[in-house]
Amino acid sequence: MTTLETGPTTNAGATFDSLDPGTGEVVGSYPVQGAEAVAETVERARAAAKWWSGLSFAERRTHLDAWAGVITRRIGQLAEVMHAETGKPHTDAQLEIVLALDHLAWAAKHASKVLGRKRVPSGISMVDHAATVEYLPRGVIGVIGPWNYPVFTPMGSIAYALAAGNAVVFKPSEFTPGVGAWLVDAFAQVVPEHPVLQLVTGFGLTGEALCRAGVDKLAFTGSTATAKLVMAACADTLTPVLIEAGGKDALLVDADADLDAAADAALWGGMANAGQTCIGTERVYVHERVFDQFQAKLSALAGTVRAGTDPGAQIGPMTMPTQSAVVRTHVLDAIERGGRAVVGGPDVVGDRLVQPTILVDVPEDSLAVTEETFGPTLTVARVRDMDEAVELTNASRYGLGSAVFSKRRGVELARRIRSGMTAVNSVIAFAAIPSLPFGGVGESGFGRIHGQDGLKEFANAKAVARRRMPALMALTSFSRTAKTDKIMATIATLRHGRGLNEPPFVSPLRLPRQAR
Ligand code: NDP
Repeated sequence: MTTLETGPTTNAGATFDSLDPGTGEVVGSYPVQGAEAVAETVERARAAAKWWSGLSFAERRTHLDAWAGVITRRIGQLAEVMHAETGKPHTDAQLEIVLALDHLAWAAKHASKVLGRKRVPSGISMVDHAATVEYLPRGVIGVIGPWNYPVFTPMGSIAYALAAGNAVVFKPSEFTPGVGAWLVDAFAQVVPEHPVLQLVTGFGLTGEALCRAGVDKLAFTGSTATAKLVMAACADTLTPVLIEAGGKDALLVDADADLDAAADAALWGGMANAGQTCIGTERVYVHERVFDQFQAKLSALAGTVRAGTDPGAQIGPMTMPTQSAVVRTHVLDAIERGGRAVVGGPDVVGDRLVQPTILVDVPEDSLAVTEETFGPTLTVARVRDMDEAVELTNASRYGLGSAVFSKRRGVELARRIRSGMTAVNSVIAFAAIPSLPFGGVGESGFGRIHGQDGLKEFANAKAVARRRMPALMALTSFSRTAKTDKIMATIATLRHGRGLNEPPFVSPLRLPRQAR
């Protein structure tokens, strides 16, 4: 939620409360930090970055592994804070932490190999030089995170940025400041020397202040609408941005798919975390030969999932109360345009609790198909073949994740989908594989967290060309001779100039003087 209107600018001493979405009780109180406080934090981070970047990869790994150790030993406590601030079940919170720990460990372990100095070929023309490339820390990274996965999502930037040798200033969502504070406190326990990871709290204006504070890169995860504001704010200082924005992921079911597995995956992909998942399934396209069978299985399974605040509920309340209104609008719009709710419907969309809803016969231009719903709903559509399924999937302006269930054509279909990531015969699997890059295309953003790409995202490539022998030919000198030019032209012709129907390149040195 963009709260520019509600957040005061530099109201010293102002605080805001984070609330339990299930009960409305206050969980904690945090300062609303304005531009001055954010600038001071970034200044401290700059000094810390000098120290942190001066450590070796191995030393940083030791610190990051120690942080992972603290998080693991106190996993129950962190999960409790997540449960209190987001309403998600304790077990889901624990799973989220475990997945984030895998990324932290991977980034710490692989940073040296991915970013460290390497020799690269210098090529025939420059054989008298040795070439090396390494990826140096950028300095201070600003990380702005959402509330829906308040550990896993920001850690995709934080862990990789720290492993790459940067200091980080983290602005969590106004709904989950306690989770952010917990992570930063745990880090300070293992790295007490310098404030390498710091927290700033507040509303949208605090985030905007971070964008304008002169950080060396801003990693944003949140809605597409806010991403545009972030880019605009960063443009003033030419601060590069990484954008992990919203999605409208589709799951495709082919005629030969394992329908039990596909229904199970669609239900979990759509309903887990009450549908508040950037890579959650929102649309399902099913081959007409198996549509009725699939829909029956999915509807039956959906009956086993219930939203509630009690420990027996599989999904919790909506974290952000205003999201329920968005879900209601999408469901009503779908029904007004001829769609049918085969499970749930408008009546089950409460203010805090939204029960699973499955919609069929929904026109493709309805809000429930085109916009991010971010609730426990699925649209399920019949397609004549998988070409149509791919075409409809790709009609979205988003392109974050996707899934394909097919025995024979899974990978082929996956490669045709315009999205950053696709799971074949499973759902969301790519997010849990640390060596795979995570990110989207189109209005889902650009840049990548996770994997080698995720590490490089937080580094500047540094290229060095070192002369290793006397020049074979003086190329970059005014002493370059006509003979050198001729040799270069001949080499270029031999290497690149062999066209089938074209006459060979003739050096201008060979042309009669008047033709030159
Ligand atoms: P928002 O875009 O509302 O907020 C994201 C963050 O941006 C919050 O910390 C918010 O602060 C901050 N913010 C708000 N306004 C500004 C501003 N003008 N300048 C700088 N920062 C600002 O998203 P949500 O928190 O509601 O998260 C849900 C969205 O995140 C969904 O669209 C979801 O798809 C997406 N998402 C994407 C993921 C991905 O990896 N691609 C992963 C997870 C979620 P505050 O909360 O204080 O307003």
